[in-house]
Amino acid sequence: MHDGHGLMLLLVSGVFGAVVGSFLNVCIYRLPRRESVAWPGSHCPACSHAIAWYDNIPVVSYVGLVGRCRHCEVRIPLQYPLVEILNGLGYVGVVWSFGLTWSTVAYCGLFSALLVVAGTDLTHKIIPNAITFPGIVLGLISAGTILPLGLINGIIGLLVGGGILWLLAWASPYLFGKEGMGGGDIKLLAMIGAFLGWKPAVMTIMVGSFLGSVVGVALIASKVIRRDDYIPFGPFLVCGALVALFFGPSLLDWYQSLLAG
Ligand SMILES: [Zn+2]
Repeated sequence: MHDGHGLMLLLVSGVFGAVVGSFLNVCIYRLPRRESVAWPGSHCPACSHAIAWYDNIPVVSYVGLVGRCRHCEVRIPLQYPLVEILNGLGYVGVVWSFGLTWSTVAYCGLFSALLVVAGTDLTHKIIPNAITFPGIVLGLISAGTILPLGLINGIIGLLVGGGILWLLAWASPYLFGKEGMGGGDIKLLAMIGAFLGWKPAVMTIMVGSFLGSVVGVALIASKVIRRDDYIPFGPFLVCGALVALFFGPSLLDWYQSLLAG
């Protein structure tokens, strides 16, 4: 992965990821509004002008247009190039970690699904079933075919991941006196478990909860939000899942060596 071919492969992965990221932006915008992601073609949400192909090149067009619609000059949210860049970097990371394998195909799909979930949860506090339901099915199919995980471990991952969050959602009104989690979080974790298995699913919840409490406390302390404001949990679970995907095996080794003392 460190020779010329490897570098070329990473570059192509990054460009391909950015192109897919352009479509993910459409999903993030339209899925919470219950609009079709296939029709109509890309148009400016402000002036409805169709967006020409040369104004729809990931990142490049945003820079070329200096972040404004060519027709009505309304500002294009920074979210658009950001999602394209993140998905490009994500694919580079997956190819870097897993090489040119079938696992890479599955994990790139998972990465993009997670990015859409983080986007819709941050902007609309919604984790779309249109992502998590097909995601769970694709996760199980991948686990049973192209991933080393195996179907049984995929099913166990789904049940453990989804089950823990279901229990937390059920218990949090008693434990914390308020609703802690929505059904979307449960289905999200079921999807992550189906792709990665039960140990990374548990790690996702642990890392996600840790990040969620640190950021939550910081936001309350700095008076950005109030104590009883709702903080979407999905983006933190997404961060946890990415930690589990990229660093899970080394973290588990380290944890087991701690236990072995
Ligand atoms: Zn416009």
